[in-house]
Amino acid sequence: MLYDVAVVGSGFSAIAVTINLLRSMPDGTAIAVVGDDVDFGRGTAYRTEFHLHRLNVPAARMSVFCDVPDDFRQWLASNGRPSDAQVFASRGDYGLYLRDRFAALLRERRQGVRVDFLKSKAKECMRRAGDGYSFHLTNDTRLDVKSVVLCLGLGNADLPVAGADASDRIVANPWRLKWLSTVEPEEEICILGSGLTMIDQVLAMREHGHKGRIHVLSRRGLVPLPHATDAPPAISQRLPEHREISAILRSLRDQVRQGSDWRAVMDGLRPHTQALWQSLRREQRSRFLRHGLAWWNIHRHRLAPPVRQRFEALLEDGTVVVHAGYLKVMEQHGERVRMAFRKRGRPDMQELAVDRVINCTGMERAGLKHSPLLLSMQQAGILLPDTLGLGIIVDDGSQVCDVDGKAQQGLYAVGALTASQFWEITAVPDIRVQAKDVAERVAAGR
Ligand SMILES: Cc1cc2nc3c(=O)[nH]c(=O)nc-3n(C[C@H](O)[C@H](O)[C@H](O)COP(=O)(O)OP(=O)(O)OC[C@H]3O[C@@H](n4cnc5c(N)ncnc54)[C@H](O)[C@@H]3O)c2cc1C
Repeated sequence: MLYDVAVVGSGFSAIAVTINLLRSMPDGTAIAVVGDDVDFGRGTAYRTEFHLHRLNVPAARMSVFCDVPDDFRQWLASNGRPSDAQVFASRGDYGLYLRDRFAALLRERRQGVRVDFLKSKAKECMRRAGDGYSFHLTNDTRLDVKSVVLCLGLGNADLPVAGADASDRIVANPWRLKWLSTVEPEEEICILGSGLTMIDQVLAMREHGHKGRIHVLSRRGLVPLPHATDAPPAISQRLPEHREISAILRSLRDQVRQGSDWRAVMDGLRPHTQALWQSLRREQRSRFLRHGLAWWNIHRHRLAPPVRQRFEALLEDGTVVVHAGYLKVMEQHGERVRMAFRKRGRPDMQELAVDRVINCTGMERAGLKHSPLLLSMQQAGILLPDTLGLGIIVDDGSQVCDVDGKAQQGLYAVGALTASQFWEITAVPDIRVQAKDVAERVAAGR
């Protein structure tokens, strides 16, 4: 059969697009959702059951509907959970919220819109003669559709040292949580990367009874900062005319030096971020990624205060030690992993021998190589990778561009895959706006 729309993926982007399609497509529409994750909508972020795996965005900004901003708080209240605007709910609860809202819409539209879940992965996509697209799925079936929304998230970055192979001692992808149950309580661990994924893994290990030392190694050794308990109001920003990154950063720093709260300054930048990104030339973006990204991430993607407190306690008692340096050697020797890194700003090397290494270096900037689907589309000329590794090229309506840079009718992408166009497009407050826009474009046949 020919479906009207295929939503490819099972994470937040996919459920947000499907929810918006349910709201905007006419009766008689057939939607195929392609994905093999167990719980639709949870993706990597919201399938956790650890209590301290909290949202890093306050409840007031986590509604899946951008036009009903209080919706998540209402769900929290009606399920007996704390529902203040500034509460950082658990990510597991957020997954339940998404499931409930989706189920309610599905019930409402049961007669009008058909949604079929195809438990499989899409491995190839090509243009159909005439119009629309054809997929080959990993269960060896074929799917024909008029429009497509790719909601694939990002793959995990490769191990940062050439020649190092993943093993039970070197965990290349921490989101496959099976490794956690094999960790012995006294093991000495090294986590590569010091961002939000690292924090998640540290807390998950402690919940699992791990008691040993945890080394954290990243090039700058910077760890995400916390939200304020009482969030200061955002300070509205007038960006300097001269759009050099250094001038913008200087203007932000000056405001902080003159006494403004840094969180309020960062939050004031938020409404301008996408336009600012789009105004940067390739070299400016590249310079920002090289020199500014680590600082951006720790100030912009902040931790819920109780999570940061828990992490700080582990720093203070010496359980967690953060190192700034460049990893040069990582190889398994029997049951241990030998590592050597050059300390930041110093010529000397430091050696470490640990029981296990966990790779938490990158959900944010992986290329296409992890995805057979994206590689096949690249080969077919129906997508163009971003040369800085920020997903694929899309136009300002999230339509995927072909090898010649031309937007293709009926082919869209949502979420982190579109970071080259929108930059800040990894979190719910941004993705929900994009999901609504794309669903409305699909419904309007644009
Ligand atoms: C640990 C963590 C915590 C986070 N916390 C927050 C938070 O508190 N607040 C917030 O706003 N944001 C948070 N984020 C950001 C988060 O990325 C987004 O909120 C959102 O979950 C992204 O969803 P996604 O669907 O785009 O990607 P993902 O959740 O990665 O989902 C991608 C899906 O695509 C599927 N897929 C991939 N390839 C194929 C294929 N070929 N065929 C079929 N399916 C395929 C995958 O199996 C997966 O289900 C967090 C992210 C992480 C990783």
